[in-house]
Amino acid sequence: MLRNGLVADLDRRFGRDYSVHGVPSGEAVDVLHATTRGSLALLLVDERVTAPTALETFARGRERHPLVERVLLVHRGKWSSRHPVVDAMALGRVDYHLYVPWVPIERVLYPAISDFLAAWDTSRDVPVVPLTVVGPARDARSHDIRDKLARAAVPFRFHDRASAAGRRVLAEAGQAAGRLPVVVVSSTGAVLENPTDADVVEALGMKTRPTTSRCDVVVVGAGPAGLAAAVSASSEGLETMILEPEIPGGQAGTSSLIRNYLGFQRGVRGDELAARAVEQAWLFGTDFVLTQPADRISARGGARVVRTADGTEVEARAVVLACGVTWRRLGVPALEAHVGRGVFYGAAGSEARAVAGQDVFVVGAGNSAGQAALHLARYARSVTMVVRGSGLAATMSDYLVTAIGATAGWRCSRAARWSTGAVRAS
Ligand SMILES: Cc1cc2nc3c(=O)[nH]c(=O)nc-3n(C[C@H](O)[C@H](O)[C@H](O)COP(=O)(O)OP(=O)(O)OC[C@H]3O[C@@H](n4cnc5c(N)ncnc54)[C@H](O)[C@@H]3O)c2cc1C
Repeated sequence: MLRNGLVADLDRRFGRDYSVHGVPSGEAVDVLHATTRGSLALLLVDERVTAPTALETFARGRERHPLVERVLLVHRGKWSSRHPVVDAMALGRVDYHLYVPWVPIERVLYPAISDFLAAWDTSRDVPVVPLTVVGPARDARSHDIRDKLARAAVPFRFHDRASAAGRRVLAEAGQAAGRLPVVVVSSTGAVLENPTDADVVEALGMKTRPTTSRCDVVVVGAGPAGLAAAVSASSEGLETMILEPEIPGGQAGTSSLIRNYLGFQRGVRGDELAARAVEQAWLFGTDFVLTQPADRISARGGARVVRTADGTEVEARAVVLACGVTWRRLGVPALEAHVGRGVFYGAAGSEARAVAGQDVFVVGAGNSAGQAALHLARYARSVTMVVRGSGLAATMSDYLVTAIGATAGWRCSRAARWSTGAVRAS
């Protein structure tokens, strides 16, 4: 039987870390209600079940377990753009699909389930982390460090300085009266007091200054365009250096889920996409220099010379400019004063858990606002989108508009809803 076979297959591989239960669909809702809140990782339901249907079970599952990942088991043979899974994914009612039969098991079932669990795993505490950050919970610099670590896909733990754990870490680090935030590096035991980005990056073993004065290609910017250029150049055997003033990922690194990137049929988190691209470029030999912007380019004979902010010059045969864009600020002085302390630009990934049970406002009607609203709606009590126009369709991709509309109708008390109007300084 399908259910028993799946339970046995999952139990064999994941049974040590997770308990795997198979229940008849009619009992699923009772089981969901009996399960302790927040502890359910995955819900796998066959598309063919009725009373309740898979989508009804998923809806009840999310009601009870807001972080659970929902996987629809799809039977082959109905390959059409009208397949229910297409709509369900677009409407945000299903997170992933898995084909039945899930063979070859090592290539299909296990990697997919590991990915689904990894997506759920980011929403819970990890036992061992390379960095621990302690600072005031509502502090711009503490937020900035957390945000960059999250975008760099570096696991870390954050403690408010006033919490028992925060006071303990500070005391153990001899920083009870130190300047906050404090970052403790597990591998070396180093304690960084109010560190710069470069201090943190160096503590993680990465380079912040060029160590060579000549190469074939300098790539300016480590967003998706720069990372793609670095992969291409270094895979052709060119000596490639990439300069980045922050950490890799660019705008894409702040995205909670990119669904339209080639090859990622179920979508990919922006930080994960960036981490994969960084590793790929690195494995081809790209030299990464982080927290170091290029501030001047000039010609020297046939070569181009890039000067970095610390005054180092690097000569290259070619320079690729992939500097992207920077955020447009809202320009409301009363809000600017609170940036990093309850007001954030593009921090849906790192701040999502902190908004649990709170009312959140997302300003903007572009794709990034849509992704943020959907992501935050899983944690916040309510999400209100503040938009200038009369709707979202003119500025947001259709799949996101559809998903937001479906969320609003789906559950009013914790759903994304949108209102129009302008943000004014008070
Ligand atoms: C929240 C969010 C969600 C998004 N979701 C999607 C989506 O789902 N699908 C989609 O298609 N697009 C999406 N986008 C848009 C997409 O991320 C961008 O189109 C893409 O990141 C552009 O890539 P880029 O490399 O050209 O520039 P950027 O991503 O802007 O990267 C530029 C890089 O250059 C660096 N840089 C700047 N100045 C210098 C300098 N002087 N020296 C060295 N480096 C410098 C920056 O620090 C940055 O890292 C999203 C954007 C955001 C913000």
